[in-house]
Amino acid sequence: MISASMLSAYLYCKRKLFIERVLKIIEPEKKAVILGKIRHLIFDRTNEEEEKIIKSIEKPMSKFEIIETYKKNYTKIAKKIIFEHKNELKKINVEMINCYKDVWKSLLQEIEFRADIVHDFLSREKVFGTELFEKITPKIKSEKYFESEKLNIKGIIDKLEVFEDYLIPVELKTGKFPKEGVWPGHMIQIGTYMLLLEENGKKVPHGIVYYLDAGEKREIFMNPFLKEEIKELTDKVQKLLNEKKIPDFCTESAKCNVCGLKKSCYAENYIEQKLKELELPRTVVTEK
Ligand code: SF4
Repeated sequence: MISASMLSAYLYCKRKLFIERVLKIIEPEKKAVILGKIRHLIFDRTNEEEEKIIKSIEKPMSKFEIIETYKKNYTKIAKKIIFEHKNELKKINVEMINCYKDVWKSLLQEIEFRADIVHDFLSREKVFGTELFEKITPKIKSEKYFESEKLNIKGIIDKLEVFEDYLIPVELKTGKFPKEGVWPGHMIQIGTYMLLLEENGKKVPHGIVYYLDAGEKREIFMNPFLKEEIKELTDKVQKLLNEKKIPDFCTESAKCNVCGLKKSCYAENYIEQKLKELELPRTVVTEK
């Protein structure tokens, strides 16, 4: 089955996808990737903490008090995870405190968003503890796996907002973000999650790409063109994996300049050797 991230990777550079998935050459972790990974982990862990935080609310609280409750829990989680990655941070010359400050900006936004939901619900329904958690929506789930044999796709959704009768998948992204809309690969990724959920019988009014550095949540709606594009891409990726013919270099030098696999990708002898070892054709498939 083809994963949502493979579809997005194919759009970025087919050759890179081939080098990683077929030749099994691993991209060395770059600074941005390490920082992104830490931030993802912190967000996942805070999502998991939601149930505990909400169940701990046993009396009416002001929005300020709810925010403080979230802050206390989230600070602990962020500091713990950053500390667990201190060696990786050292390797990329990032101080733990600077990593924390960076993450905290987006965590604060998330805290405000969730505190708003909890405060509104508390004021309206006047229920507390376990009952509050059971009744409140949306509930937040992280890292949920879905697949569809019919569509030949699978994916792990970063964050799922679970409402009473519908779901909203959210893809968390760090790093560069477009002025408006979302990058093409991100559109395909979130579109794939929406399709997966629909295939699993869920209602999905829209999906969200959350650019953490911009602090912006951008909504994506399903449409027939996006559906078709995902289907065509899935077939292309499957073909690439089946035929095992190495694609040509991508045509955008800006991508190669920041690519962690550039050294291996341009080392013709090394690539030749790898293809030989795996008994794969050396034919280069040129972009059309
Ligand atoms: S260096 Fe360029 S062509 Fe090679 S894998 Fe990276 S992005 Fe693709």
